Amino acid sequence: MSLRDLPKLELHLHLEGAAPPSLIRGMAKEKSVDISRVFCEDGSYDFRDFVHFLSVYEAATSVLKSPEDYARLMTAVLEESASHGVIYTEFFVSPDFCGGSDVTAWREYLHAMEEAATRAEAQLGIASRGIVTCIRHFGPDKAKPTALCAAETAGGWITGFGMGGDESVGHQGDYAYSFDMAREAGLRLTTHAGEWGGPTSVREALDDLKVERLGHGVQVIQDLALVDRLIEEDIVLEVCPGSNIVLGVYPKWDRHPIQALRERGVKVTVSTDDPPFFHTTMTREYEQLARVFGWRASDFHEISQTALDAAFCDADTKARLADKLKDHPQ
Ligand SMILES: [Zn+2]
Repeated sequence: MSLRDLPKLELHLHLEGAAPPSLIRGMAKEKSVDISRVFCEDGSYDFRDFVHFLSVYEAATSVLKSPEDYARLMTAVLEESASHGVIYTEFFVSPDFCGGSDVTAWREYLHAMEEAATRAEAQLGIASRGIVTCIRHFGPDKAKPTALCAAETAGGWITGFGMGGDESVGHQGDYAYSFDMAREAGLRLTTHAGEWGGPTSVREALDDLKVERLGHGVQVIQDLALVDRLIEEDIVLEVCPGSNIVLGVYPKWDRHPIQALRERGVKVTVSTDDPPFFHTTMTREYEQLARVFGWRASDFHEISQTALDAAFCDADTKARLADKLKDHPQ
């Protein structure tokens, strides 16, 4: 079995966080911007810890300044994902970085990204959708125009709304206004919770934002009653084990709770989060899960089926993706 060839669905991928360092370096050179401090000598991204990671991420992202830049980024990321067998990707996209959450500017960025995504689907067979994401450490007031961008462009390629950023800032409920606006526009909801924050952050996400998926969510393992609630309410976790290991949420792969959560009956999926930052790919995640937890083709198939069921896309797209999963021999 070639793990690279297995068809994969990825639900948790930050578009800028997936930017190949070579693309960002090349763009910085074209624009004569000096961001050499964000790179190691070997050319990869350089950061010390989670807060430093966020600042390196924002510095790297600062070279992406136009809709055309985002189209190039989208193309590069989808090519990379398709080369690892990914057949469907959901991107976190941030109007904050695309025109400062101005709806008119956002429409132009979105148009360029959507065109690139459509081209990639035609040429490489990889489908995708966008989840507009507010940045938690920018504060609740900044989230409102972001949610308006999401609501104004809901439908089509944009099918979800979410929140990323520094989970230690404020509470999930501080952003309820924005999540309510997105829900009323018909968008599906997810938020980062239970990555750095404990069970309380997960409980707040469910109670105050009424999300159907959680970004990470793994810290829920500390509270088994809450684990049972996730199962009862059919909440799906977007688990990114490699990200958790590199950032130090867990010290080693064999200490990661993905297997324990799955064994208790929680619906888990597998994603890379910000792959070049964490020196990972979907293939690498699969290899580690096979090595550490003994996952086989049938386990990966089950994970893909869970991701398909939880995907924020329409029924026709799901039917096409289901055919691709079925076609692949187990
Ligand atoms: Zn994330």
